[in-house]
Amino acid sequence: MIDIDKIRKDFPILSRKVNGKPLVYFDNAATSQTPQQVIDVIVDYYQNYNANIHRGVHSLSQEATDAYEEAREKIRAHFNVKHKEEIIFTAGTTHGINLVANGFSSLIKKGDEVLVSALEHHSNIVPWQMLCERTGAKLKVIPMTQEGELDKLAFAELFTEKTKLVFVNHVSNALGTINPIKEIIAKAKEVGAAVLLDGAQAAPHIKADVQVLDVDFYVVSAHKMCGPTGVGILYGKKDWLEKLPPYQGGGEMIDQVTFEKTTYAGLPHKFEAGTPNICGGIAFGVALDYMNEIGFDKIAAYEHELLVYGTQELLKIEGLRIYGTSAEKTAVISFNIEGLHPYDIGTIVDKLGVAVRTGHHCAQPIMDYYKIPGTVRASFSFYNTKEEIDVLVESVKKAKMMLS
Ligand code: PMP
Repeated sequence: MIDIDKIRKDFPILSRKVNGKPLVYFDNAATSQTPQQVIDVIVDYYQNYNANIHRGVHSLSQEATDAYEEAREKIRAHFNVKHKEEIIFTAGTTHGINLVANGFSSLIKKGDEVLVSALEHHSNIVPWQMLCERTGAKLKVIPMTQEGELDKLAFAELFTEKTKLVFVNHVSNALGTINPIKEIIAKAKEVGAAVLLDGAQAAPHIKADVQVLDVDFYVVSAHKMCGPTGVGILYGKKDWLEKLPPYQGGGEMIDQVTFEKTTYAGLPHKFEAGTPNICGGIAFGVALDYMNEIGFDKIAAYEHELLVYGTQELLKIEGLRIYGTSAEKTAVISFNIEGLHPYDIGTIVDKLGVAVRTGHHCAQPIMDYYKIPGTVRASFSFYNTKEEIDVLVESVKKAKMMLS
């Protein structure tokens, strides 16, 4: 069991009020809250050893470099990455995906096929569409079902010897569905295609082991896992990262520069042009320490309890429909109430202190599939409680009364 009272004390924001009511924060899929332990590290960095890294000989620069590289090592250990240089610091998931999609411009040609799933966030659709426009490759979509799952019958047939790349999210941000990634990776291997998993929504709940998964690329954002915004990582198998050309040119990523020719640095620096988010990287490492100390098994079990309770209580409201009913899902409840607009519900529950997300959640194809403009999405984290779910349910009931 997790010690929920102790955990909640770690998050200062959870004791604030919003619109005169205690904050109930259920927008964790958009961004998670930050524990004091991570806030302290950010303050400590700027108070004590703020300096640019890698190039400096002075002590501050050495301290910052050591802390940043120590964070890379923590991240390596967390995802069970084989080589430290297979971890590329990025600005987040979107950046990581664009880095790979851009690199594949030189490895993909007209007539090749790339597979995407119907359950993707726009950031795992648009960069690949752009890649297809640049190269003439064809984008094919693994369809979804009413339950919000990938259609397993359809997907096997989509893999052919022309398939070069498959990109799927590990967990859907709009519905919470955990995708059958092992089957997808196995199928991709049969045809020799590379797989990129968007782990943005999985990483806060499931500890992925990239070696066991044998996945080619895995991308995450720190801000969804108790870390700061503007930092994340791309994991890539060394062979792939060596094959991909650099994404951005600049300082840090070079070996030698002359006006005639520039040679590039080795991994991971080849993909880390410019001054990175140093403090963010260090804080990401501490956020992982924090979550690992609680334990991902405990986090998953507790969040599942919240999911079951929230689903049961929300479904008691007449006219409420939940989208995404897979048995394999994280603690995300995406719903609508018949005849009401999700935006109106979100606005009223906010007045009562409850933060939920409304809209298409950057996943318009899913909304189009259900023929809806959007949903209300309540996404739970390990610092939420059943009592908070009761507040959500009462607030939704009030909204329904006011709007009907
Ligand atoms: N993919 C998924 C599944 C997401 O949920 C998100 C964030 N909502 C992203 C990608 C993009 O992450 P970021 O904005 O941190 O780059």
